[in-house]
Amino acid sequence: MTCEHCRPLKIVPEITSPEQLSQTLRGIREAIASGVLAIDQDASRQKTPFPWTGQATPQPPSLNQHLYCTFCGQRFRLWAETSSGTQGYFTREDDSP
Ligand SMILES: [Zn+2]
Repeated sequence: MTCEHCRPLKIVPEITSPEQLSQTLRGIREAIASGVLAIDQDASRQKTPFPWTGQATPQPPSLNQHLYCTFCGQRFRLWAETSSGTQGYFTREDDSP
């Protein structure tokens, strides 16, 4: 379940470098800023909110965020180890809870 809005989002099955992590996060931030993606607050509430707004906020050691497309409802999952920046993924979630 994808639509014209969320299909272009860059899926990263495996994040292997800090550069790739920051690129992935930038893409997600842009998608949120443009209104395509939104954070699923219910699913994500147990974790520290992601510092979407920039470098000034210290990043939590790991990210575990559920997001969804505001147009078609496609769900996405972001998980990343921010301390090393060498582990993580950003994928579509095909299984609805
Ligand atoms: Zn969509």
